[in-house]
Amino acid sequence: MGLHVEGPIYFEGRVTDYLEAHLRGLEVRVERQPVAAGRENIVAVYEPATPVGTLVLEVHQDTVPVEGMTVPPFEGLMENGRLYGRGACDVKGGMAAMLSAFGRVARERPSRGPRLVLACTVDEEFTFLGVQRLVREPLGPAPVMAVVAEPTGLDIVNAHKGVARWAITTAGRACHSSTPERGINAIYRMGRLLPVIERYAEELRQSAKDALLGPPTLSVGTIHGGASVNVVPDGCRMDVDRRLIPGEEPHAAPGQLEAYLRKHAPEVEFSSGGLYLHCPALAAAGSDEIAQRLGVAIDRIRGRHAVHAVPYGTDASSLALAGVPSVVFGPGDIAQAHTKDEWIELAQVEQAAEILYQLAQG
Ligand SMILES: [Zn+2]
Repeated sequence: MGLHVEGPIYFEGRVTDYLEAHLRGLEVRVERQPVAAGRENIVAVYEPATPVGTLVLEVHQDTVPVEGMTVPPFEGLMENGRLYGRGACDVKGGMAAMLSAFGRVARERPSRGPRLVLACTVDEEFTFLGVQRLVREPLGPAPVMAVVAEPTGLDIVNAHKGVARWAITTAGRACHSSTPERGINAIYRMGRLLPVIERYAEELRQSAKDALLGPPTLSVGTIHGGASVNVVPDGCRMDVDRRLIPGEEPHAAPGQLEAYLRKHAPEVEFSSGGLYLHCPALAAAGSDEIAQRLGVAIDRIRGRHAVHAVPYGTDASSLALAGVPSVVFGPGDIAQAHTKDEWIELAQVEQAAEILYQLAQG
């Protein structure tokens, strides 16, 4: 999550090793895709003799940190039909369901049906690097469709907002605070930008509206400046969080704000950094077929399903942007993700496994 950490318990390596051993046991093709130092996607493929299209089951390997948890994060404690631990809900429950469905198909070895790709990616929780690596190569014969595991309570999510984050900095000239007239105060410079940014955010909210997701938004989340109260600060930094609706390009967002600031606060010197996090929005358009097929599979097991738009970002939008129609689906409630007592209802994991198996029948 951007923290500087080292040691074997950090990053996804041990999960990747476990997955590799498990998937090799199924005698399918297994490939590691290097993404960053010590971080690799793992992709397994079951290829029927006569494949009909491609179904991608995508799930992330990483979790958020374990600090502050009130249950043992790694023990897999089971109680009253629930399994507790970091990642139980986000998203090892969904991963277990996908492994189960994929394993069943791989053992049954059908000669027809979709080419089945199980893609376990790294770095979903922070900068989405894993899925960006995954979509760099073709995933199989058309039509290619994907289901991305996240806790949706076994309903279908077909739309979500995107996000772009970057920093704006101002520079000043430090001097002793007893003679502030000799320096330039970087915090004052930043302060002049703030009302202009607030006005921009308000105009942005009025500028457009997605029928499912509402308007785009912008929020300044942090501001840091100065080293000590007795020194005129020579630097100040704010972090900007911009939520995007379908059709908006994450990389365009910083430039749009910068142009507005240059126009409405031309006297303020500042610089606008590049994106350090971006995830496009997921549009509902294009995913009708996979949503419909998944819906049929859910109905067979549960009798009903709903289709939602949600505010949080997922790997599905990167897949969709690469031309792979994608929806989000999995066991568990997003309200249980990232929590201090994270848990998953095991009955939902079993149902998800059955639903995905049915879907993989083509
Ligand atoms: Zn997740």
